[in-house]
Amino acid sequence: MKADLHIHTTASDGTLAPQEILEEATKAGLACIALTDHDTVDGLLTLHDLPQQQDVALIPGIEFSTDLPVNEIHILGYYIDIHHPALTQQLKLLAADRLRRADNTVSKLKQLGYSISYERVLAIAGGASTVGRPHVAAALLEAGYFTSMAEVFSELLRKNGPAYVPHYKLTPLATIELIKDAGGIAVLAHPGLVGDDRVVLDTIALGIQGLEVYHPKHTPALTAMYLKLAETHDLAVTGGSDFHGKGGRFPERLGDFSVPAALVDRLRQMAWRQLPAT
Ligand code: AMP
Ligand code: FE
Ligand code: FE
Ligand code: ZN
Repeated sequence: MKADLHIHTTASDGTLAPQEILEEATKAGLACIALTDHDTVDGLLTLHDLPQQQDVALIPGIEFSTDLPVNEIHILGYYIDIHHPALTQQLKLLAADRLRRADNTVSKLKQLGYSISYERVLAIAGGASTVGRPHVAAALLEAGYFTSMAEVFSELLRKNGPAYVPHYKLTPLATIELIKDAGGIAVLAHPGLVGDDRVVLDTIALGIQGLEVYHPKHTPALTAMYLKLAETHDLAVTGGSDFHGKGGRFPERLGDFSVPAALVDRLRQMAWRQLPAT
């Protein structure tokens, strides 16, 4: 039994709609998936109005972008209540500031000699609740300025790069607390991409409950190291493909990278134990 606990949809920077993800996951024989869009649960909310897919278990999830001066830390939340008022309120603020940031990025790009429009970026985002750098990058590619996403990021949009504009983010601690308040389990995403294991340890100390040990960007050596770290700190072990739908950085097909579905048991138990007594 296979699971994939890290998947993006059109609600953020993925190219498949939530319903399409469910269909692809079923075809790929996945028993369980989590939708973990960047800074939004709108993909999960849209599924509420559709007939339930029977073949694949769906875990409500999210991937928050949080910031430290040098590192961008992503924190996953599993089994969150997607209607939780404090969560809803925060996500609204994050989405609004991302629009301001996309607009400011377009202005900054103009000053650097790249002419794309804010309207075009929004059209490319196509109604995504989380408008992000990948949508800006796609507009630059479309206008013929670059030939690959990786190039746009390394030349312009990387953190603290020439066209980088920060956006409002919660701190790692506030994010972990928000996830827990919403009934979820807070998991440090792809620790191997944080860039500094001291920061990983600091983040664990803030109250992280799980570690995304399995990720396509982790080498076997890193995976073994993080597995040990999770054991040492008694953290849940998770993993997923970080599927975005398009080719490039992550697997192009759902099912190409998966983890044993048995990993979900501990997560579910943790979420269950965390429910407030009634
Ligand atoms: P944002 O949340 O708007 O700051 O955008 C960050 C997103 O951009 C990440 O979640 C990735 O999906 C994507 N991204 C980051 N770095 C790269 C890169 N080098 N190439 C392609 N996409 C990237
Ligand atoms: Fe992404
Ligand atoms: Fe991430
Ligand atoms: Zn991701």
